[in-house]
Amino acid sequence: MTNSTCLLCSTTGGTLVFQGKKFRVIRADEVGFPAFYRVVWTAHVAEFSDLGLEDRNLCMAAVNAVEQALRVHLQPTKVNLAALGNVVPHLHWHVIARFDWDSHFPAPVWAIAQRPVNVPACAVIESGLHNVHAAIGRALVHAAIGRALALESSVL
Ligand SMILES: [Zn+2]
Repeated sequence: MTNSTCLLCSTTGGTLVFQGKKFRVIRADEVGFPAFYRVVWTAHVAEFSDLGLEDRNLCMAAVNAVEQALRVHLQPTKVNLAALGNVVPHLHWHVIARFDWDSHFPAPVWAIAQRPVNVPACAVIESGLHNVHAAIGRALVHAAIGRALALESSVL
């Protein structure tokens, strides 16, 4: 189930962190937000409620795994979760580590900037992302095995 005109069907959408059969985790290239991730459902569905119960649970387990990895390794001020899909109506959850020094805090990342990007602080966060990515991979492989799903997964 794909849509040839859909950005998330035709491209990875960012740096691939985890590829499963039913979803992937990518790191988005968003200036000023060094720990901005998306859990992208593989099938082209618009709404979360298009998924059955088991898939909804799997999707939220993935969101949870990303959030936990961000909390443990980056100690953000807050983690923001959002599923909008107004621009790209293909189910994806945003999982964003927010910091009180980031350019938009406490406003949403899509709001007007409140201060310049803190480039040195972003660089510090970026230097620790390999730990975040390893943790996401471990958590999702474990979740897949635990659920006995035929998840053809790989950790990148
Ligand atoms: Zn799509």
